[in-house]
Amino acid sequence: MQYDLKDKVAVVTGASRGIGRGIALELAKSGASVIGTFITHNEAANGVKGEIEALGGEADMMLADVSLEQDVKNLRDRVIDSYGSVHFVVNNAGIHQHLKSWELTLEDWNRIISTNLTGTFLMSKAFTVDMKMRKYGRIVNISSCASYTGTDHEVHYAASKGGINSFTKSLALELSPFGINVNAVSPGFIDTDMLVWDSDEQRADTEATIPLQRIGEPADIGHMVAFLCSPGADYITGQMFHVNGGLVMP
Ligand code: NAD
Repeated sequence: MQYDLKDKVAVVTGASRGIGRGIALELAKSGASVIGTFITHNEAANGVKGEIEALGGEADMMLADVSLEQDVKNLRDRVIDSYGSVHFVVNNAGIHQHLKSWELTLEDWNRIISTNLTGTFLMSKAFTVDMKMRKYGRIVNISSCASYTGTDHEVHYAASKGGINSFTKSLALELSPFGINVNAVSPGFIDTDMLVWDSDEQRADTEATIPLQRIGEPADIGHMVAFLCSPGADYITGQMFHVNGGLVMP
């Protein structure tokens, strides 16, 4: 699916692999210049840059930990220096951890919240300074269906994603007078390194619980993000979009 995103600049966090890579590729296919961030998988990040350039697009990969305010400010300065302005920010970087609540340390809790929720706040705060001046911008936050269903093995992850949902609505209210739309995409099971299957049977069992009978692809999320950045989504803000094959129908 392609949209008209020519002459637009997008920053996608955690674009070295998985869903972030899928989002970066879909935005680039629609003509946006894409700056992806990463903290690990340096080679993979360069691979994504190469894939976008092979499509005829423009891409950069920049090292930045979204949980560190100074890293985010440096990233913003580098991007603005190189590209002049930023039109889209996709807060995709995220981590998870399978542990019961009683097994979690405060350090575990803080690590997940800092990356998933605080990182989304820091990126949004840094990049909307420029967007507000230009009276145009799109922020897309990647949530999770776990924020709706709950999960019996990672309360900190689910809480971070629930926080993203509330953050999205409140930020949409604050920024709508400045022409900035803020939305969230809530994926179901998507085929990335974040999901680990114990066996083919376990994967097949999971697929059987999904009405559309398949695990999603990163491009499924990329299509939704590209749409939310397109002119067709000009009248959409503060909304959550569920891309999950029918797994959850909130
Ligand atoms: P992934 O582990 O494959 O990729 C995560 C990316 O985030 C990597 O590029 C990693 O380098 C980056 N990252 C991690 N910590 C970072 C930090 N502090 N600063 C900057 N970058 C950082 O995971 P994925 O499956 O592609 O997940 C992407 C997003 O989608 C996450 O927010 C995740 O919670 C969400 N999600 C995934 C699924 C799924 O089934 N895969 C389902 C629901 C939601």
